[in-house]
Amino acid sequence: MTDYTILGSGVIGLYTAYLLLERGIDSKKIKIIAKHTPGDLSHHFASPFAGATVPCVKNDDEDIQFFCKFTFENLGKIRQQLGGNCGIETIWNNEFWYKKPSEKTLKKFYSYIFEYKEIPKAQIPKGQAYGLRYKTWAFNAPLFIQRLSDYIKAKGVKVDVREISDLKEVKTKGDTIIFNCTGFGSRFIKGIEDLDVIPIRAQVVVVEAPSVVETHLSWGNNVETYAIKRPKSNELVLGGFYQHDNWNKDVLGKETQDILQRVSKEFPQIIPSGKTIYDFPIKREISAFRPSRKSGVRIEKELIDGRLVIHNYGAGGTGYAQGLGMAEQAVRLIPSSKL
Ligand SMILES: Cc1cc2nc3c(=O)[nH]c(=O)nc-3n(C[C@H](O)[C@H](O)[C@H](O)COP(=O)(O)OP(=O)(O)OC[C@H]3O[C@@H](n4cnc5c(N)ncnc54)[C@H](O)[C@@H]3O)c2cc1C
Repeated sequence: MTDYTILGSGVIGLYTAYLLLERGIDSKKIKIIAKHTPGDLSHHFASPFAGATVPCVKNDDEDIQFFCKFTFENLGKIRQQLGGNCGIETIWNNEFWYKKPSEKTLKKFYSYIFEYKEIPKAQIPKGQAYGLRYKTWAFNAPLFIQRLSDYIKAKGVKVDVREISDLKEVKTKGDTIIFNCTGFGSRFIKGIEDLDVIPIRAQVVVVEAPSVVETHLSWGNNVETYAIKRPKSNELVLGGFYQHDNWNKDVLGKETQDILQRVSKEFPQIIPSGKTIYDFPIKREISAFRPSRKSGVRIEKELIDGRLVIHNYGAGGTGYAQGLGMAEQAVRLIPSSKL
């Protein structure tokens, strides 16, 4: 019988382990190897830093549309299996664009979100052309990966916490399939060394704002501003920046100020009357890397030293919103003779 070794314990590796279990694969046949696991913080571990929201995706690529729809439609089942307070809730998003998404994009989005309505022109921020209010999934990212990891481990999947510098260090016996879900690590691990993998730097400001219960997103021309509600917490994640191939790990004071000013200009409705954005206590300022890939996400099989490796990395800024669909596509690459 085939063994499965998953490299990586971010949201993509965890979604993969979950789907293998869902296919009825014996948990004793599944192992995770990862340098970082839920609870850890590092620039090489993106998953704990995400907002995370499930927004409208303006990309008509069929694979991406599949990732979005599959993830959206199956999160309810995961939520049920993990039980209450597992870091996934439904929430209202208010999303604005400087250019209205195409009817084709909107139609696809409407086909799976829970509820939606157009935002009247008078309530659309200056400079924006279109607004949509809809009910979607929201993640409390650190809580969700912790709960998903606990669920997988409780089913019997073993986690080996260690760093791999060369794929050859992954010892396998007989018929093992390796899922490579190492995100940013895929740039550095010998045997993979994909130089297309780059960080997309983010800076966010996490504030305490219990009065804000919805998420607000505004996409300008090369500038993104958001206030993402973290469900089951008082936290509001304010952003942001989307800086390709920027390796700066520092938190920059001028970027924090820029975020606070943009949020208060774009979403004045979230600020209680008589207060300013500076009245929300700042809990954390964070600089983090989204593990991206210049040529897009890589989900494909490769034979490396005679072993079947199924790659799944390069999620960039969409690992939560699309990751379950990405993992499903990767798991479907297992040859049927091995299942
Ligand atoms: C500020 C911010 C906001 C975001 N907001 C959203 C959002 O709203 N919606 C959304 O969908 N996404 C969002 N994202 C993106 C999302 O966080 C990522 O797409 C996702 O976390 C990527 O998951 P991953 O499992 O591929 O990588 P990671 O979470 O980085 O996990 C990689 C795993 O591989 C392991 N690994 C790597 N190299 C090695 C090695 N050499 N040896 C052993 N183990 C190794 C790591 O230890 C880790 O376990 C956001 C990201 C950031 C930073």
